[in-house]
Amino acid sequence: MLKLTFLGTSAGMPTKQRNVTALAIECLNPYLMGSSRQQDSNQHTNQNNNQHINQYINQHKSQNKKSRPWLLIDCGEGTQHQLLHTKLSLHQLAVICITHVHGDHCYGLPGLLASAAMSGRQEPLTLIAPKAIETLLEAFTLTTELYLPFAINFMVIEDLLSEQDGKITICLNKQHQLDIDITPLSHRVASHAFGVTQKISHRILNTDKLKSEGIPASALWGRLQQGEDVCTEDGQQLLSVDYVQNEQQRTRIVVAGDNDRPNLLSDAVKCADLLIHEATYTHEILIKIQAKNPDFDPMHSSAQLVGKFAQNIGLKNLILTHFSARYQSFDNPNSRTPNMADIRLDAESAYQGNLWLAADFAQYMVDGTADLIDDKDNNRVQYLGSARDDK
Ligand SMILES: [Zn+2]
Ligand SMILES: [Zn+2]
Repeated sequence: MLKLTFLGTSAGMPTKQRNVTALAIECLNPYLMGSSRQQDSNQHTNQNNNQHINQYINQHKSQNKKSRPWLLIDCGEGTQHQLLHTKLSLHQLAVICITHVHGDHCYGLPGLLASAAMSGRQEPLTLIAPKAIETLLEAFTLTTELYLPFAINFMVIEDLLSEQDGKITICLNKQHQLDIDITPLSHRVASHAFGVTQKISHRILNTDKLKSEGIPASALWGRLQQGEDVCTEDGQQLLSVDYVQNEQQRTRIVVAGDNDRPNLLSDAVKCADLLIHEATYTHEILIKIQAKNPDFDPMHSSAQLVGKFAQNIGLKNLILTHFSARYQSFDNPNSRTPNMADIRLDAESAYQGNLWLAADFAQYMVDGTADLIDDKDNNRVQYLGSARDDK
C-alpha cells in the first residue's frame, strides 16, 4: 500500500499554486494496521475497496512513523519548503530517485540534503540518479562546505542499466521489500521512469480451522503464526504449515520523468496499479509549439498523447502532472483563460479510465493486490485530499 503526496506539479518553473516537480511515496504496511486484512484473507471476501482503503487510512495514522519509510521521486527547487507543510520527515526518507538532470527536477537536492544533515540525520540514504547528479553534489561539497554526516549510497542510473538491467531491490525490513526498475524515456536529455513495486509478505493464521479443532486462542496461536511447530497442553502436536498460509501483497506504480513517447512504457505499466506521467500541454498547444520553432522541440507529452497510450494499453488508473505554467489551476471549460479543464478534456478525448490531474499537496492511496484475495475488480487508487489538511 503506497501513499502518494505531490510536492510539486509545475513544468519548468514554479507558479503561485504549483512548485516544480517532486513526489513523495510512503510505504505503508497494512498488516501492521490491525487484524482486518488477516480476516479478509481468511474469508476470501470481495469487499468494496473504498471501504477497505478507508479502513486502512484511519488505521495508518496510528502506524509508527518509523515503519513508514518514504521515497522521493525528483527534487525540484523548494521541495524542502513544500515538505514543511506535510507530516513527512527527512529522517524516514529512505530513497531519492532523480529522473533527469533538468533543473526543475533536481535543483532542490543540495538544499534538501543540507537540511537533512542539519536536522541530525545519520541513517544512510540511497540516491538513484544520473551520473551528472553525482558530479553536481561533488561540486556543492567542494565549493559550499556541504558536509553530510550520513552516507549516501549513490546508484548511478547509467551503470544500473548496463550492469543490472535497471533493477534494484531495497529491503526495508524482513517482510517489506521494494523493487525499483528503470525505463529509459525520450526527452532532450536522458530521462527515466521508475517502476516501484512494493512487496509485503505476511503469515495468515487459519483461526477458523484452529477453532473448529477445539484449540482455544492462546500464545500457541502466535507461535504457530511465527512458523513454530507447537505442542498443546494435552500433548497434541501442531505443525505450523497446517495452519499458516503465506500471503504477499503487491502494489506497483510507475512514475515517469519528462517524456514525449509514452509508449516506451508499454512493458513497465503491464502489471501496474497506476501510471503517473507528465502532460505539459494540450495536444493543440504541443503542435503549435513544435511548428513555431522546428529547431527546438521541448520533447514533452500532451495530455491526449498520454491518454491515448493509457487507453490502448488498458491502464485503469492515470495521474497527470507537470503542467505548463500557462494553465491556471482552476477547472472551468467555459473560461477563456487556459486552465485545467483544457488538460482534462484533452486527456478524456482519448482515455476512459480513472483520471486525476495532480495538484500540489494532493494525496492518493494506492492499494495493491494480495495473492490470497480475489479482488481484481476493486479500485486501486483513491484521492485522499490535501496534505495541508492532514492533521
Ligand atoms: Zn520538467
Ligand atoms: Zn526535462
